[in-house]
Amino acid sequence: MKTIQTVLEKNYGFDSFRPGQQQIIEAIMNKKDVLAIMPTGGGKSLCYQIPAICMEGTSLVVSPLISLMKDQVDTLQAMGVRAGYINSQMDKSSYHDTMNKAMFGYYDLLYIAPERLDSEHFMNVIQNMKINLIAVDEAHCISQWGQDFRPSYRNIPQLREAFDYPVPFAAFTATATTQVKHDINKQLCLQNPHQYVASFDRPNLYFSVIPTKKKSTDLLKYINNSDSAIIYCNTRKNVETVYHSLVKKRFSVTYYHAGIPADERTKNQEDFIYDRKSIMVATNAFGMGIDKSNVRKVIHYNMPLDMESYYQEAGRAGRDGAPSEAILLYSSQDIITNTFLIEQGNQPHAKDKLNRMISYCKTGKCLRSYILGYFDEVPSWQKCEHCSNCDGNTETMDVTVESQKI
Ligand code: ADP
Ligand code: MG
Repeated sequence: MKTIQTVLEKNYGFDSFRPGQQQIIEAIMNKKDVLAIMPTGGGKSLCYQIPAICMEGTSLVVSPLISLMKDQVDTLQAMGVRAGYINSQMDKSSYHDTMNKAMFGYYDLLYIAPERLDSEHFMNVIQNMKINLIAVDEAHCISQWGQDFRPSYRNIPQLREAFDYPVPFAAFTATATTQVKHDINKQLCLQNPHQYVASFDRPNLYFSVIPTKKKSTDLLKYINNSDSAIIYCNTRKNVETVYHSLVKKRFSVTYYHAGIPADERTKNQEDFIYDRKSIMVATNAFGMGIDKSNVRKVIHYNMPLDMESYYQEAGRAGRDGAPSEAILLYSSQDIITNTFLIEQGNQPHAKDKLNRMISYCKTGKCLRSYILGYFDEVPSWQKCEHCSNCDGNTETMDVTVESQKI
């Protein structure tokens, strides 16, 4: 059997584990359930991939997005790992080809979308395989309190009864409030799991909320052509408006949203990732699975719908650990737009979450304490001196008072 250290060095090319990783891997290999909460970019994938590579049999990985699944499988295959995926977009012959290989125990890892568990054929096949782990990625999707609830995640618990030998369950997520954590434990029937909760603090990020009545002009104070920046807007239309105005002002800028043809979208994304363009204007469709380390600023042109989304997007700044900024441009119009948007959607608890988001924009207290408190972490400071509220920037304060009057 390969040792986990060898796999880390030989397959991944890393010298050491990050905090938490080794304990999680060992727990899985000792057949214990796991609940791991680590921020985006924290290195969750490796925690289930390494046991999958080391143990005999096949690990099933439940993952919510076809694109993420494909990226991960491509990366693993390039590393020489036997990984495959099954999704609704593949044709019959590739499905049967993959399932045949799976039946003969070819795969170390098999990625599936949760919808697959509805298929009787699939369930029959896996019952005749040697399954050694059920890894649930983006496990918050199982909770109505998570920011993107997926009803089909509720199929996962049926895997508990599918095998007549013990199979550990390992759940991974970047966002878990107490309610979500509790829900994951309950829904997946985790048995006395090994829990790992990483700190959510990002000491190199400076957080600010900028109340403004004139976003398009205020935005210009925070961007330049030498720093890599992402500007998030709430609609495709806003993305295009902001993009065109920045083009006119000769910024090095590109844009991204789900309505752009796929090949152009890929090109724009690469222009940004390879630093051919400094600024990316995008909807929240941009960023999942993107690992660009030198983003210096993440600017929210509009208020997101909830703190989970905000922190995930803002967290794409400063992955390399260098000083970076997370800036939210806030106007009272955002509240109106967001209220409208959540009334159109059907995410449970959306109203409560929006209220917490609005409080973030309005609080006069430490922003980083507010964020950590939201994720049930107790900060080690009262004033962090590293956010626009603790800095006591007077110009900002005046406008705050102004906007509260409105
Ligand atoms: P998450 O799923 O938690 O958002 P990923 O699993 O995608 O994060 O990992 C984020 C990045 O960190 C990847 O580029 C991965 O290769 C890298 N990484 C993970 N573990 C380590 C490690 N022990 N040493 C160095 N880099 C690591
Ligand atoms: Mg991940």
